[in-house]
Amino acid sequence: MSTRIYFDNSATTPLDPRVREAMLPFLDNIFGNPSSMHLDGLEARQAVEYARGQLADLIGAGTDEIVFTASGTEASNLALAGFTRAQPPGCHIITTAIEHPAVLMACRALERSGVAITRLPVGGDGIVDPAALAVALRPTTRLVSVMAANNVVGTLQPIAELALITRNHGAVFHCDAVQAVGKIPLDMRTLPVDLLSLSAHKFHGPKGVGALYIRKGVRLSPLIHGGGQEKGLRSATENVAGIAGLGAAAAIAANGMSAETARLVCLRDRLLDRLLQRIPQAYLIGHRYRRLPGHLCLGIDGREGETIKLLMALDDAGIAVSTGSACSASHGSEPSYILSAMGYDQLRARGSLRITLGRFNTEKEVDRFIDVFAAQIINKPEKR
Ligand code: PLP
Repeated sequence: MSTRIYFDNSATTPLDPRVREAMLPFLDNIFGNPSSMHLDGLEARQAVEYARGQLADLIGAGTDEIVFTASGTEASNLALAGFTRAQPPGCHIITTAIEHPAVLMACRALERSGVAITRLPVGGDGIVDPAALAVALRPTTRLVSVMAANNVVGTLQPIAELALITRNHGAVFHCDAVQAVGKIPLDMRTLPVDLLSLSAHKFHGPKGVGALYIRKGVRLSPLIHGGGQEKGLRSATENVAGIAGLGAAAAIAANGMSAETARLVCLRDRLLDRLLQRIPQAYLIGHRYRRLPGHLCLGIDGREGETIKLLMALDDAGIAVSTGSACSASHGSEPSYILSAMGYDQLRARGSLRITLGRFNTEKEVDRFIDVFAAQIINKPEKR
């Protein structure tokens, strides 16, 4: 068994063994194409529909409101570009300055094709002010896209409030909930969200499978054309094993969510409190309480320029954490646009460390992390 400590669960999560079990038959003897009319096809179709039901249960959706995709990125692209393509010209979209590149870049591409985009600012804690949304709305605003939880700082947005403002304006609300689904309750029966993106590998499911929730009545144009699968919105033979894994991951998350949230909050707060005690130069980035249960983003005063060195030293000691977002690891030394939007200066925006806990992390691992981390900081003199 590996003795490594994996504290990078916002980048991706280890596959839950129960999810693996649920996937195995579809990598083995149940290999039919869900569109085939024979028994082999039927078995595969049943697996896809069963998983759709499991996911629908997790988020309080109807089964006919779920379209499977190959990733969270694809789900958000389908939401933004698919919705815009179904609108008359002259559409205005509102998003935020701290979205994941899946939304930011999809918006940039739409902007190049003539769509007007407004990017809302955030406060020092990374939260969007609903009043700012109300002011930014225009008669031509058709879509608002705000993430549920930020992938770098872990801050939760006031989605219910933002979505209600959007609905009252007559526009559609998209939420990139890739970091939030399976970790915090999200119920489409009560949340006025119209489109919601998610990804299995962020909640102990497999990589390469995601989904878009599409509220009944919201019209999208497909981005992928072909055989008409997923009600014509996402042509391609379904990733049956991946979808079965997504469904199983959703069912597991739904069953244990409140107990797991309490456990993770406890571990996260233990890590934070003890670290702040041992390392007075450490500071928390993002909102203290309105954050994902297992998510911490830290800076160390005077050590911001050494974050990558620190990450590598932790890696050598058998501990995996990240700086900024794993999706932008190649730009690790550039200031994070998320921290910059939160008002951090260039140095601090370059020097954050993301520590994200998941289902398989333990108190023992947290305590070992604190010892190793503190030794790294305390044993090395400040450079300032
Ligand atoms: N949105 C957010 C908030 C994310 O954190 C990520 C991945 O880190 C994505 C979207 C992309 O998801 P996927 O890896 O499934 O494309």
